[in-house]
Amino acid sequence: MDIKVNPTRELKAKPEDESNLGFGEIVTDHMFQMDYEAGKGWINPRIVPYGNLSIDPAAMALHYGQEIFEGLKAYRGTDSAIYLFRPEENYKRFNRSATRLCMPEVDVDQVMEATKQLILLDQDWVPTTQGTSLYIRPTMIATEPHLGVRPADEYLLFIIIGPVGAYYKEGLNPVKIYVEDNYVRASIGGTGESKAAGNYASSLLAAEEAKKKGFTQVLWLDAAERKYVEEVGTMNMFFVIDGEVIGAPLTGSILPGITRDSVIRIVKNWGITMSERSLTIDEVIEAARDGRLQEAFGTGTAAVISPVGQITYKGEDHVVAGGKMGELSQRLYDEIVGIQYGEKEDPYGWRIKIN
Ligand SMILES: *Cc1c(COP(=O)(O)O)cnc(C)c1O
Repeated sequence: MDIKVNPTRELKAKPEDESNLGFGEIVTDHMFQMDYEAGKGWINPRIVPYGNLSIDPAAMALHYGQEIFEGLKAYRGTDSAIYLFRPEENYKRFNRSATRLCMPEVDVDQVMEATKQLILLDQDWVPTTQGTSLYIRPTMIATEPHLGVRPADEYLLFIIIGPVGAYYKEGLNPVKIYVEDNYVRASIGGTGESKAAGNYASSLLAAEEAKKKGFTQVLWLDAAERKYVEEVGTMNMFFVIDGEVIGAPLTGSILPGITRDSVIRIVKNWGITMSERSLTIDEVIEAARDGRLQEAFGTGTAAVISPVGQITYKGEDHVVAGGKMGELSQRLYDEIVGIQYGEKEDPYGWRIKIN
């Protein structure tokens, strides 16, 4: 793939204080774009100055929600090298999301190449302070102007990148989770396992109401019975009960997280009991009451491991792991972050050096 590069003439000022980057507030100088037209496939791969898009108000993404995205990160190692973590998995998932939403697949090798070229062009934006990284957001939208409902014939793929710090203001401090037993995020047979924009639109109200009550995120239950734990906001969930690590199975309503998969493989590798099985909220609460719920944590690219310090269900607060980060959570965090930043052995072959 020949990517046309049109460098910007005006480089933006980079953030001076990397300790205060926040999440998703800063973008770099350039972005990647590529168009799709039915019959032609993907055309015009290009890296251009970051800037506004111009799309028709009748563009189908704006009306019928054909929009998918991915989220991955580039890490600056202590050796100054830049690493990606299992990036092909993100683009494979992107393609599964695309298929579910009747959007065209991409060539994984091509978009990998585009991602690397974009990062290398803007490599001075990859922050160096511990805990920071460069967030990468590949996105696909339907651009064909058409007001009848059907899959579009024209699409735009773009990749934007920007330096980020911690996802939650809490950092590694445990978060408070509200068990949502009214609203639901996704049902089996729906689009819950796709990284589709619409999933997030439908989850906002519950999250806002929980935030007003002082919670960081909601824990979703299954849509049919409000009985089984599914996931949290933008993270998969794990519970440690009586020494067993339990994560919800991929039944179709849960996003198959790459961090989730990494955690499962590491935990098994460590010889700890790891079960992907349905877990009822009653089982979790009972374990919390009896002091058998040793840890609970969320997993996702943005926060890596996010320990849960409190779970609130039906008006009752349950403190988890004394409100502190649990031992396994900390060990997993250190292991994954160590691999991501090139500080630890990578027996799984997950890390890719790009420069
Ligand atoms: C992205 C996401 C996750 C985490 O996936 P990772 O691949 O680990 O980043 C979990 N749940 C939802 C709903 C997500 O959107």
